[in-house]
Amino acid sequence: MSDNLGQQLNSYIEGAKAKTGRLFVVSGPSGAGKTLLCKQVMEKIPELGYSISYTTRPRRKKEIHGKDYFFVDVDKFKQMMDDDLFLEWAQVYGNYYGTSKEFVKQELAKGTDILLEIDTQGAKQIKQQSLASILIFVVPPSMEILEQRLQKRGTDSKEQIQGRLKSAFDEISSCNIYDYLVINKELDRAVTELNSIILAERCRNVLHI
Ligand code: 5GP
Repeated sequence: MSDNLGQQLNSYIEGAKAKTGRLFVVSGPSGAGKTLLCKQVMEKIPELGYSISYTTRPRRKKEIHGKDYFFVDVDKFKQMMDDDLFLEWAQVYGNYYGTSKEFVKQELAKGTDILLEIDTQGAKQIKQQSLASILIFVVPPSMEILEQRLQKRGTDSKEQIQGRLKSAFDEISSCNIYDYLVINKELDRAVTELNSIILAERCRNVLHI
């Protein structure tokens, strides 16, 4: 190989390594299994960062502040909105949810890829921003299975389950803005698919020299 070609190849590789991180946005109806799916993928790809959202929703039994969410009251959340601290935020099932702008921007600038598990309203806001984002939509194999999963989860009342099912229809109708669709029929397969999407996106050639 000539010296010239060798130098060109080295600078190409350095350029590829120096890229800012990518934002992997995972959405889907409540009960589609996004949280477990994301957790398992995070275990497989350790160098993938995860953004912990802020929420005004009451903490569920097994949830830990600072691990599952940052649980804050409505006043604090609204103050953060006014201070422009969110990359995106939305009201979902009557509660506020938002992504920390500072955390995501810092991690992306370091070159770290970040996984965001947010609803479709938030995904639309991310898509409008000039960030390298890849949108992935997770769906259950059927609405019947979604209802069964929500009932089995045991965290919501009958009325809340009906509300979540109604929202599922609205969310599914937004799925055309997403780059990828993962049907979560069987968890292992869905994990492999999400994993493959992330790894393939990391190999995408964005330099085009
Ligand atoms: P849950 O209360 O069941 O944990 O989440 C309810 C919904 O809020 C899910 O669809 C979840 O993806 C979404 N969500 C969680 N965090 C955020 C966030 O920071 N922003 C937005 N827009 N949605 C979020």
